[in-house]
Amino acid sequence: LERTFIAIKPDGVQRGLISEIIARFERKGFKLVAIKIVQPSKELAQKHYHDLKERPFFNVLCESLSSSPVVAMVWEGEGVVKYGRKLIGATDPQKSEPGTIRGDLAVFVGRNIIHGSDGPETAKDEINLWFKPDELV
Ligand code: ATP
Ligand code: MG
Repeated sequence: LERTFIAIKPDGVQRGLISEIIARFERKGFKLVAIKIVQPSKELAQKHYHDLKERPFFNVLCESLSSSPVVAMVWEGEGVVKYGRKLIGATDPQKSEPGTIRGDLAVFVGRNIIHGSDGPETAKDEINLWFKPDELV
């Protein structure tokens, strides 16, 4: 079955949105197969966002991800990569539809509370980057 990497970013954790976000994935019918709270190193943040390293906001983005604890998760289910992104909503919360996590709960692109893998290959890479095999059910 397909798996994806989902992270509640520091702003989402600080705002007390952990249970709200987990509930939305659970209610949809996806299965939580790994979860941990971690404060990622700057190096892990840079690896995680390596595809954005040429963007002007890359450094701020990595500083922000490594600034305080993150809830790292792996969710499993039919179509979870694509549908997970749908639950999350567009990158810029000003453009996310109401009913999505970012649409309902966020305002700023730099504080968009959650990350989700953007494709099946990225999902595999991100799961391997954040989790050891024995941390997954
Ligand atoms: P994520 O990878 O976090 O799930 P995404 O796939 O919707 O988000 P990406 O293009 O991968 O969007 O950007 C990664 C993150 O970089 C975004 O979630 C956002 O926090 C930040 N970001 C993207 N574009 C901008 C921007 N123009 N200004 C500031 N931050 C940005
Ligand atoms: Mg992305």
